[in-house]
Amino acid sequence: MKIYKFGGASVKSAEGVKTLASIIKNEDVPIVVVISAMGKTTNMLENVVDSYFNQKPDLISNVATVKNFHKKIVDDLYSRQSNIYRRVAEIFETLETIISQKPSLSYDFEYDRIVSLGEILSTSIVSHYLNEVGINNTFVDIRTCIKSDNNYREGIVDYDLSKELVKSTMTFANTQMYVTQGFIAGTITNQTTTLGREGSDYSAALLASMLNAESVTIWKDVPGVMNADPKLYDKVQIIKRLSYKEAIELSYCGATIIHPKTIKPLKMKKIPLYVKSFINPEKEGSVINDYTERVAMPPIYIHKKNQVLITLTPRDFSFVAEERLSSIFLVLAAYKVKVSLIQTSAISFSLCIDYNQATFNAMVKEFQQSYEVLYNTDVELITIRHYTKDILDKIFAEKTVFVEQRSRQTVRIVVPTN
Ligand code: ASP
Ligand code: MG
Repeated sequence: MKIYKFGGASVKSAEGVKTLASIIKNEDVPIVVVISAMGKTTNMLENVVDSYFNQKPDLISNVATVKNFHKKIVDDLYSRQSNIYRRVAEIFETLETIISQKPSLSYDFEYDRIVSLGEILSTSIVSHYLNEVGINNTFVDIRTCIKSDNNYREGIVDYDLSKELVKSTMTFANTQMYVTQGFIAGTITNQTTTLGREGSDYSAALLASMLNAESVTIWKDVPGVMNADPKLYDKVQIIKRLSYKEAIELSYCGATIIHPKTIKPLKMKKIPLYVKSFINPEKEGSVINDYTERVAMPPIYIHKKNQVLITLTPRDFSFVAEERLSSIFLVLAAYKVKVSLIQTSAISFSLCIDYNQATFNAMVKEFQQSYEVLYNTDVELITIRHYTKDILDKIFAEKTVFVEQRSRQTVRIVVPTN
């Protein structure tokens, strides 16, 4: 039994859905197909949530954007008679019912029940299409199987309960293929949750671990795990083999190739993770596995954009000791801020964090009660793993470095965005 995961980029058009079909058509073992929302649907639905929750006038046009995008794909895939039109209409009716009512007080709750519809749309369209072209499959609403707590937008999965439900649902008794959603889950009272942006890799890994899959394959619009972003660097190469540890380090540093939570469930069961090109499926790609011997690695460059460097200095000139640190982290946790790097000195504390425009000012205000706050919103964090002296010489000659942290394998610098 295998897991195939298709990200948004691979199902962004009718063409993509057809390629997906041609990839899975040749599979002879039972598979679970995990799919994300089509193209940039999640971002489009985030705009819907924003205008709904804040009762903005662009709500209708934001909904129309999502509708038109899906309508084009459905029109390109199906004849007018297909009953997929009914199903898609039902999903949009669900959305319209939600937005016709006054929002609750919880932004995150509203976010999950709206944004999750992207995955429901994509899987309904794909599952239906596959059945129509003779690739028989069974649709599963994963919210009935993967159960999380009610920490909306970052649901914590109850692994044991979910495993029981997944195993009793995906028995493969009458089917060789299930099609289901990544990224979304349900609470025990059947509210919808999501598992964090780009979380469908994580869903695929959870299902693999729960079902003891022989492998997971993530189909992407890149040829495998690259040592740098080809948009930023001239000479890039595919890293064919990576250990789980290397993969965790990379995703933690901001490599977007796989979601950071993906590796743990796979490592537990030693399940290999293949990263393959959706455009050239016959190419080898990369494999992340339980390699214990040292695998030689090229230098790897990771740019994490959209960061803020923020420095807190206590107003009373006192030390930034443990107690202060824990109160700083409580504020960060309350704003669900992801910290990329920290540096302390006697009387100041610097953090490089993901910039969230919606909440940043409120968070700064809160810090200002006890701290002098300085920040720079125009920075990025560059991580270089397996660096060499030449690389460092070059980078320090070229860039203004605000913060630097160096260990044996890794150097991390915060620099102005150019
Ligand atoms: N559709 C979700 C997102 O864009 C989940 C995913 O793609 O993994 O964040
Ligand atoms: Mg996505």
